Amino acid sequence: MYPTSFDYYRPTSVAEAIELLRQHEDARVLAGGHSLLPAMKLRATTPAVLVDIGRIPGLAGIRTTATGLRIGALTTHAAIAASDAVKATCPILAEAAAQIGDVQVRNRGTIGGSLAYADPAADLPTVMVALNATLIATGPNGEREIPAREFFVDLFTTALRPDELLTAIEVPALGAGSGSAYVKHRHPASSYAVVGVAAIVTLRDGRCADVSLAVGGATANPVIATAAQQALIGQAPSAEAIAAAAERVTEAITNPLSDTYASGEYRRHLATALARRALTAAVGRAG
Ligand code: FAD
Repeated sequence: MYPTSFDYYRPTSVAEAIELLRQHEDARVLAGGHSLLPAMKLRATTPAVLVDIGRIPGLAGIRTTATGLRIGALTTHAAIAASDAVKATCPILAEAAAQIGDVQVRNRGTIGGSLAYADPAADLPTVMVALNATLIATGPNGEREIPAREFFVDLFTTALRPDELLTAIEVPALGAGSGSAYVKHRHPASSYAVVGVAAIVTLRDGRCADVSLAVGGATANPVIATAAQQALIGQAPSAEAIAAAAERVTEAITNPLSDTYASGEYRRHLATALARRALTAAVGRAG
């Protein structure tokens, strides 16, 4: 199907893009187009105006900061997966980006587009929630910081205001003694995550001093598996302790998504199995 007709603007600065969003109530930002354009072709969304941010200088790129990395919203999944800085500072992000779609999707799709779209089956939102990254939104009144754990509000809904652009993402460096892993059960047709789990474990004196465990795909937005985290903190990371913690992941999945591919019960089962795998891999990489 063809999209309905729309006006097209290609601003050359963030300020110009924001002004266009402010002027046109029914405008949508266009980044890599790999989620928006398919939705427009299906007429699931019919914006009257597209604001193409793809040529705005300075919105793509990865920079090392005092606390981690600052990643421009237009940075592609392929650039993140290939980045030595990401692999060294925050390897779980490179690991997840490398599992997105196929080569074409990774070369066109952007981190900003993935987060702003808030597709429950996307990979990067889960990793951002596990990392508790900071998302930088820029609007008419300048920049504001939104913690990843407050950014995803509902299915395809974020805390971004209509006249704001997501301009950058700040991710913390993983500290000494930390290991991380992202594992997913991929949909066989699209590669999207039916369920994806991000685990970060910090070991100190042979015990789990800190654990961050996020589950995506099972619910409208990624959730932190608090009970599972608490079950592991303070424990030696034995296979039994990890399995016992993973069993408690379902306590965070109270209202699971369900569709023709995977029922809610199956998603809860996947979350438990994938949490065990992710925690085991993260512990193996820690230290
Ligand atoms: P666009 O499609 O351009 O935009 C998406 C939405 O975000 C739009 O609503 C747009 O207005 C908004 N937006 C974009 N950038 C900004 C910004 N900077 N500020 C504010 N709003 C913005 N994703 C996965 O996570 N895992 C997968 O396995 C996967 N498989 C895929 C397979 C296929 C065949 C396809 C087509 C896509 C797949 N994707 C997958 C999605 C892919 O990662 C998309 O590229 C991504 O979700 C959206 O990024 P984009 O740059 O293409 O954004």
